[in-house]
Amino acid sequence: MDCLFCKIRDGQIPSKQVYEDEQVLAFHDIQPAAPVHILIIPKKHIASMKDAGEEDWALIGSVHKAAQQIARDFGIEESGYRLINNCGPDSGQVVFHIHYHLLGGTNLGPLVA
Ligand code: 5GP
Ligand code: ZN
Repeated sequence: MDCLFCKIRDGQIPSKQVYEDEQVLAFHDIQPAAPVHILIIPKKHIASMKDAGEEDWALIGSVHKAAQQIARDFGIEESGYRLINNCGPDSGQVVFHIHYHLLGGTNLGPLVA
């Protein structure tokens, strides 16, 4: 399988990691769209949210929990942040391994310009 984020998970492609636990990994986005822009992934390869099964919801919950912790670590818990998952063509998803964008560190403005 040729998956960019699996390769990052396996250390075949370098990344600036900021968080890791048994099930979740997080690292800086290579092209940050905000002062804080972290990508949070389940270590398990799931291509897209539409592919998540009944057995995956606890894992997705762990991703959200990690997001809360990372926001705390980056000091943006009170100023606020946005957690975005792109799913499928209309969203612009380009990497087909579930990931959440954690964006913050500035006023992000409206969701859709
Ligand atoms: P998507 O549009 O699929 O939700 O977002 C994929 C994200 O992955 C983009 O924000 C892009 O900048 C980021 N990205 C693409 N290639 C790499 C890479 O090699 N390393 C890291 N850290 N991020 C990447
Ligand atoms: Zn993958």
